[in-house]
Amino acid sequence: MLVICAWCEREDKITILQEGNSAEGVSHGICPQHQQEQLAEVMKLFPPKRASNPKRRRRRRK
Ligand SMILES: [Zn+2]
Repeated sequence: MLVICAWCEREDKITILQEGNSAEGVSHGICPQHQQEQLAEVMKLFPPKRASNPKRRRRRRK
């Protein structure tokens, strides 16, 4: 099984994440570089809250 980065492939690059026999099949993964980029994208979409509130609000009423 050969594992290549799907993001690199989209950019017409081939980054082999795991060497293997392509005859067994090709699987897709993500290389560390693209993983970082993806993480940055997610951070943009969902910025971490600065003030983390350890207390959980309880809405339970009796
Ligand atoms: Zn990549």
